[in-house]
Amino acid sequence: MAAQQERGQPPFLIRRLTAEPGLRARIETAERLGVAPRRLDGWEPAETTVYEYDAGRLVRSVTVREPEWSEQDRAWMAALVGYRASLCPCGCGHPAEQTQAHESDGRTFVVPPPVRCRARTALVQAQAQYEDTPQPEALLWSVERR
Ligand SMILES: [Zn+2]
Repeated sequence: MAAQQERGQPPFLIRRLTAEPGLRARIETAERLGVAPRRLDGWEPAETTVYEYDAGRLVRSVTVREPEWSEQDRAWMAALVGYRASLCPCGCGHPAEQTQAHESDGRTFVVPPPVRCRARTALVQAQAQYEDTPQPEALLWSVERR
């Protein structure tokens, strides 16, 4: 991972995102919402307004707002980029350093028996009945529970 790691992506935070799915979900939620992670905890930026008067008349007001993104928030986002870059490009969802390790002989991973999706099964069966209709790929499908 170190070879792929770019500058500014803290390795410690990347390791935490890898090891803690709940934390990763929180950071990804913040990313999706376009807010700093601390916002999810209820943090709001502080605002300070300074009013300037001339002879008792308001002539100017300046509002300074605390930045949305703290150094820690930026570090989390950089770590998220680093985490994603550390994943195996095949799409298996595992860290590339584990899946592509030379010492790995493939026995470090096991594949549990599959679980059948009954909704998908019903959909595929229904679609098979329409294979010979004109433009079957134009049919719009949905699956409902009985
Ligand atoms: Zn993979």
